[in-house]
Amino acid sequence: MDEYTKVRNKLVHLEAQLELRFSKLTDNITHAQEPLAQDFAEQATQMENSEVVDFLGNFTRNELRQIKQAIIRLDSGDYGVCVNCGQDIAPERLAALPFVDKCIGCAKMAERG
Ligand SMILES: [Zn+2]
Repeated sequence: MDEYTKVRNKLVHLEAQLELRFSKLTDNITHAQEPLAQDFAEQATQMENSEVVDFLGNFTRNELRQIKQAIIRLDSGDYGVCVNCGQDIAPERLAALPFVDKCIGCAKMAERG
């Protein structure tokens, strides 16, 4: 299997996992009274705070968007290149976070604002 296929499979798999997580979260909001199996959902319920669910929902949705964009970049041949400065993103960074679109330097700059 070549690198492109490997990375693409990884991203598609991750996307499917997040889609599932997101649909469970949405389900959780709709059926808040029902028992929940997911660990993080349990924690969210224990905290009795819909803001936590909102946060997880937003977080998951944001991650999903990044993954979809990463798949698009992969297909167009731009994958692994920083969208900000155009340099190659370190392979170990991509291995840990396959959907990142910025190199570590630019990501840190963005965090600082
Ligand atoms: Zn950069």
